[in-house]
Amino acid sequence: MTIESINPATGKPIARYELTPASALPGIVERAHAAFLQWRQSGFAERTAPLQRAAGILRRNEREYAQLMAQEMGKPVSNGLEEVRACAAVCEHYAEHAAEMLADTPLTSDFTRSRVVYRPLGVVLGVQPWNWPFHQVFRMAVPALAAGNAVVVKHASNVPGCARAIEDVFVRAQLPPDLLRVLLLASADVEALVSHPLVRGVSLTGSGPAGAAVARAAGGKLKKSVLELGGSDPYLVLADADIELAARICTQGRLGNSGQSCIAAKRMIVVKDVRAAFEERFVALMGAARVGDPLLDDTVVGPLARRDLRDALHAQVQASVAAGARLLLGGAVPEGPGSFYPATVLTDVRRGMPAFDEELFGPVAAIVPVADEGAAIAAANDSAYGLGGCVLTRDVQRGERIAADLLDSGMAWVNGCVREDPRLPFGGIKDSGYGREQATWGIREFVNVKTVVVT
Ligand code: NDP
Repeated sequence: MTIESINPATGKPIARYELTPASALPGIVERAHAAFLQWRQSGFAERTAPLQRAAGILRRNEREYAQLMAQEMGKPVSNGLEEVRACAAVCEHYAEHAAEMLADTPLTSDFTRSRVVYRPLGVVLGVQPWNWPFHQVFRMAVPALAAGNAVVVKHASNVPGCARAIEDVFVRAQLPPDLLRVLLLASADVEALVSHPLVRGVSLTGSGPAGAAVARAAGGKLKKSVLELGGSDPYLVLADADIELAARICTQGRLGNSGQSCIAAKRMIVVKDVRAAFEERFVALMGAARVGDPLLDDTVVGPLARRDLRDALHAQVQASVAAGARLLLGGAVPEGPGSFYPATVLTDVRRGMPAFDEELFGPVAAIVPVADEGAAIAAANDSAYGLGGCVLTRDVQRGERIAADLLDSGMAWVNGCVREDPRLPFGGIKDSGYGREQATWGIREFVNVKTVVVT
């Protein structure tokens, strides 16, 4: 069986790749386990040297990888360059800090000596999406490897070239063979992989249905899972917000990665005092974003990754308008090849509309007008999702209190876009998933937190 990668800017095929047959999976897992048995005995210096080398390879070839992403899933090269640098930063961060993150924790008890040690689990499976085709894999695999695990990744079917390129980075970085595999695999074969006795945990980033399917399979076999799923992040524009700053942050937060981000700014919840001013400025900035060829350095919004995703997004916009939302910008499918969609702004969005209830994975912003701050917080939390959120206000103390105590989300920002940083834990609550990636919390997801006592 083969899969074809298609350039979403042109709709034309790029290349064809062989899928890994289901029959090969047991052997791949067994070899990964054998590699793990060696790797677990290595010290941190030995484990982190290939990560440092991988960072160098990424940095030296950043444009090549950014162009590959642009061709396979339409990411504007400026975003792709940031992504490659973020992958290098993940490698460097764990190379530098894994030893201290996993240092023993001494404990006081009735015994002579007691402590907790953090030991690897074995082969960990990653199921990864296409929207950050490099970074999602690095974010999951690098801490797992640094902790002493082996990693097998099933990558998304529309980014096979990226999958191959990532494996190649680690081959060139001289990671021991079989310790990291990035496979092209039918999603129907994932359950068999989860069920393999030597696979000890699974981490998935993607949609709710994919997460539920994989978590069900993992739960059925009593295996640990971490899920990073969708989001509908609220950005609260309060009465005292700096409107120019708020409009810029919301535009940047909505359009990054052409809007195909779990942590994008999706619902702009605006109190009535500043609604008119915010709408005017926000629509102007959204409308000014350049939509076009992802290979050009000044493109802000490229094509969406697949035509079916573009069509699903447009259907969500149309259904929201039919339910009473008003279009302030965009909202029409452009003529011509490719899966482009214009920067779009909907207002008068409320509960019961897809633009409020569902994740909009593309450059479509939903403005939700509310009476006051209390109503803004209630609307923000009135969501199945709980990934990120942001409070825009000149009263930073008040903003921080809302962020820390009142927003139902795994991450909450004040006066800035929610973003990735290997030093900060990343993850959500409710339908946005569970568990954390990045920082100490991420590296400790796939370890055995082992109690060791000398009586
Ligand atoms: P999916 O969630 O279907 O894909 C993500 C990964 O999961 C891919 O590797 C996919 O494989 C795999 N997968 C899908 N279904 C299963 C399954 N039943 N068992 C095992 N693995 C599975 O995302 P889509 O590409 O279909 O995008 C649909 C929507 O999902 C987007 O519009 C967006 O709302 C959301 N999404 C959210 C992401 C996030 O960052 N949170 C990332 C991507 C999507 P394959 O490619 O072979 O189908």
